[in-house]
Amino acid sequence: MEKRISFNIGNKVIGDSHDVLIQSMGDKKTTNISYLVKETNDLARMGMDLMRFSVLDKADAFALKEIKKQVNIPIIADIHFDYRLALLAIDSGVDKIRINPGNIGTEAALREVIDACKKKSIPIRIGVNSGSLNKFRGKTSSPAEDFLLAMDETLNIFQDEKFDHLVLSLKTSSPSLLSELYLKAYQRYPYPLHIGLTESGFGTEGSIKSAIGLYPLLSRHIGDTIRVSLADDRREEIRACKVLLKAFGIRKNLPDLVVCPTCGRTQIELKPLSREVANHLDYVFKDIKIAVMGCPVNGIGEAKDADYGIAGSGKKDVYLLFSHGSPIGLFDKDEALRRLFDYIDKF
Ligand code: SF4
Repeated sequence: MEKRISFNIGNKVIGDSHDVLIQSMGDKKTTNISYLVKETNDLARMGMDLMRFSVLDKADAFALKEIKKQVNIPIIADIHFDYRLALLAIDSGVDKIRINPGNIGTEAALREVIDACKKKSIPIRIGVNSGSLNKFRGKTSSPAEDFLLAMDETLNIFQDEKFDHLVLSLKTSSPSLLSELYLKAYQRYPYPLHIGLTESGFGTEGSIKSAIGLYPLLSRHIGDTIRVSLADDRREEIRACKVLLKAFGIRKNLPDLVVCPTCGRTQIELKPLSREVANHLDYVFKDIKIAVMGCPVNGIGEAKDADYGIAGSGKKDVYLLFSHGSPIGLFDKDEALRRLFDYIDKF
């Protein structure tokens, strides 16, 4: 498909050749305004572009107005079951609405939401999931085609309304179905795609399963916004998205951190040290490679393509700072870290 659709979501642009936007979702009820504002702003400093919030009732829809005032990234209202909550969220100033066509209600209700979004130039994400499939299940030759049939039927209404500021998502917790669905969707629709495995589990398994499902997509640069849904601290979701986008060369201005697994040669407290370095790099947006290695025997040589690094010196609690395989000097931990962060900040 040649020309792909792009448009604004608040102050961001999505679609066609624009950046893949990283997103996450608030992990408390939306009336917890101060908690969610802090979470959103913290994650935005790490590189999150969009934040989504559940709207269970009127109080949540009204809370979005306060949240919107206190954050600088676009916010998305997640609507299920009651289209009137979408109308209230639109009045609260949200930048995008996410609906599930399987439970939004009647066609008239959906057209009312489309009309309200059209008036304020607010895009809509259509999120088809297995709950949307009831009347389509088994209607085609495969589960993937059932999903797409459900999407087609909803899209007919949007096309009739001449509304094309749409983001599409096809939610599944199966990595192989995820790949198949989005490869087909990319061929079939010109709209931006929201990619990500749903309900993928805790940090390690969820990241691995997500990477497996997303590999066929990201390696072809398919996907316009990404969420790695994890049953974990939301910071891990942003880290996982950044690792994937960096690894596939989709975002270059991110750091690459190399950390050795440690072994009997390690004479320093490598794990807390590397965690401190990783925490610092959460807020660095540069194409820089940093290494944290346990010993000088293999460490410096193996990490000689790193711009900067710290290795154990072979002596207890003595840290060797290096750059491109050449030693800079020996320091205690605090001084080594201070100098490393200084080099990173000036890079
Ligand atoms: S870099 Fe040194 S400490 Fe780390 S795993 Fe390799 S040999 Fe062991």
